[in-house]
Amino acid sequence: MKFCAKCGKEILEEAVVCPNCGCAVTNPSVPQQIAEDQVSVGLCVLAALIPLFGIIYWPLKYKETPKKAQACGITAIISWAVSFCFGFVIGFLGAL
Ligand SMILES: [Zn+2]
Repeated sequence: MKFCAKCGKEILEEAVVCPNCGCAVTNPSVPQQIAEDQVSVGLCVLAALIPLFGIIYWPLKYKETPKKAQACGITAIISWAVSFCFGFVIGFLGAL
């Protein structure tokens, strides 16, 4: 017997979905590929330097490595916003 990780109810060994809460049951015998989905500093730096890269990378890799892709995409957006603000301020000051 095993237990649902979400609601704690006893469920069948071969169950894939918990009958109580409908949550997907993870099988401990199958190792999950989560090791690869970690925030990559290199990718974030690249996304900061080339925001377009990060913005393309985010939806492209979101299904495979959501954390990595999200961090990359958010970095790209922040970098883009910051450079846009800087450009705006510099342009504004230049116009004076
Ligand atoms: Zn459950």
